[in-house]
Amino acid sequence: MTEPSHKADSQSTSEGESCPGGKSRPHKWRPWGLFLILLALVSVLLVRDDLRRQAIGSTTEAIRTLAIEGLGLSPRELFIWRLKIAGLAESPLGQQWQKAAQVAGSDPVSLDRQLQTQRGFVADVVEAHVYQVTLKRGAELVWRLDRVADSGGELFASLERRDSDGEFGTGTWETVAELDASGQSTRRVVREDGIYRIVLQPELFASVEYNLALASGGSLGMPVSGASQRDIGSPFGAPRDGGARSHHGVDIFAPRGTAVTAVADGRVRTGTSNLGGKHVWLSGSLLGFGSPRYYYAHLDAFEVESGADVDAGDVLGYVGNTGNARTTPPHLHFGIYTASGPVDPEPFLQPEPVLPRE
Ligand SMILES: [Zn+2]
Repeated sequence: MTEPSHKADSQSTSEGESCPGGKSRPHKWRPWGLFLILLALVSVLLVRDDLRRQAIGSTTEAIRTLAIEGLGLSPRELFIWRLKIAGLAESPLGQQWQKAAQVAGSDPVSLDRQLQTQRGFVADVVEAHVYQVTLKRGAELVWRLDRVADSGGELFASLERRDSDGEFGTGTWETVAELDASGQSTRRVVREDGIYRIVLQPELFASVEYNLALASGGSLGMPVSGASQRDIGSPFGAPRDGGARSHHGVDIFAPRGTAVTAVADGRVRTGTSNLGGKHVWLSGSLLGFGSPRYYYAHLDAFEVESGADVDAGDVLGYVGNTGNARTTPPHLHFGIYTASGPVDPEPFLQPEPVLPRE
């Protein structure tokens, strides 16, 4: 029921990024050489029809890549530009297309842990489909999207986010990922609280049928063997010491001697203190630099040596009530510390998301 003393346990995780030194070589411009190469290229393209077509194809692709990666436009926004160039953006149809996500978003399908649907769009109806869920940092969203037999045409599918405190309709949606209709399941750990939605819309006049499966849950396994959400006793943020400080983790109650396990791969450091008793810090390996540190307190005994490398699932020690938990039933105090301080572990510890079967 305690948090660690930072004096004893804090560990500097700030490492400067090293910039490669060295001088940049000055460019020697050879305008005539460049001109000759260009001339040769143009003459080849004029002669060889097949090469010219390839060049046009790759130019279209290059513009697309530039627009999406260079300018930060989503494929959907790029399509709106195409409508503008075609003079369709201001037409009633073009307007309807651009407002479709907003219209569907006013009455979204909400995700409650699991969802599976097969729906479609027909060529003569302009609409979008919106699936929405509120998620906290540490939650995980999984999706699988694939197209069923259709007439072709582009299907725009994006994951968008908005702050959850914004009044309805006022916050702006920000695209955080594009979904590909590959039929592969994709996972994403939520790094920021917010409202998340998946927006599906085909290009104008396309008819598309799709299968969408969605699931939400936690991104970490339970750190106590056999425990579930019901065993979490004291929530994050609960007052401590008469309100002088607040609870920087959750307490997971379990019989003395129950195994506690690593929630991630990393390196452990063990210690003993008045507050946390026998405790373990688990930090990501060097590869996971920037990942959070996990704190396990009030252990009855250790199963690892300080400095050891562990894999997710390895036993670190056993539930007890050492430190300032002497007068309470055995439990694991579990904390997650990021660069910006402690965060609520509960969203991380929800049951793992499972997609409905196909
Ligand atoms: Zn606690």
